[in-house]
Amino acid sequence: FARFRSVQKSYDGVELVVKDFNLDVRQGEFVTLLGPSGSGKTTCLMMMAGFETPTHGEILLKGEPINGLPPHKRGIGMVFQNYALFPHMTVAENLAFPLEVRHLSKAEIKQKVQRALAMVRLDEFGDRRPAQLSGGQQQRVALARALVFEPELVLMDEPLGALDKNLREEMQYEIKRIHAELGVTMLYVTHDQTEALTMSDRIAVFNDGVVQQLASPDTLYEQPENAFVAYFIGENN
Ligand code: ATP
Repeated sequence: FARFRSVQKSYDGVELVVKDFNLDVRQGEFVTLLGPSGSGKTTCLMMMAGFETPTHGEILLKGEPINGLPPHKRGIGMVFQNYALFPHMTVAENLAFPLEVRHLSKAEIKQKVQRALAMVRLDEFGDRRPAQLSGGQQQRVALARALVFEPELVLMDEPLGALDKNLREEMQYEIKRIHAELGVTMLYVTHDQTEALTMSDRIAVFNDGVVQQLASPDTLYEQPENAFVAYFIGENN
């Protein structure tokens, strides 16, 4: 469904930060790129989103190569750690924005915004500005904004990194609920082993631009293929 084929990436033309990356995320699947800081996870998401171009290899969406397609034409939703909400707009205006750029009618926009707010349980918060919300609520708005135009693929880059432990666990549950409800395909990035193990259908363990192992949480835990995976998965567990 969302596929990386022999993808390499170098920012300076010399050092490869992603080396021969292959991954096929199936429709409706929740796949996580897990690895230490600087291992190349974000770079992979940026290439799928269209903000970075692979140095070598191909990115495909639903079987079609999309290397040359600009981000707004890919129909992909994105959520980042820092929310990236527009501070001068209300919550409802933030959610309406991706629909306005797609030229939906006012009535459709209103209906979709209301539905997205309900999905993240913020029905009553449409008129507030981001600064009047807690961190967890802001992250829910960011999630709603990524989903409001009904993308088939959602990319999330450390979306819960700024939240405290309790809120993080609550949001993990919320994201899983929404994933199940919508049947949307998710490609998720984290350096948190527990988060990856609890949320994912499959996990690609990254180190140094290379996938060390791609497997289900159970398999990674029980049958790590090398010392790095065993060490990294075992840490904090
Ligand atoms: P983190 O969890 O810290 O975000 P990551 O696994 O997502 O790490 P990347 O952000 O993909 O890793 O970075 C991989 C490498 O590429 C790092 O060495 C980083 O310094 C480098 N890099 C990332 N973005 C750029 C850029 N725009 N220009 C040059 N180098 C970059």
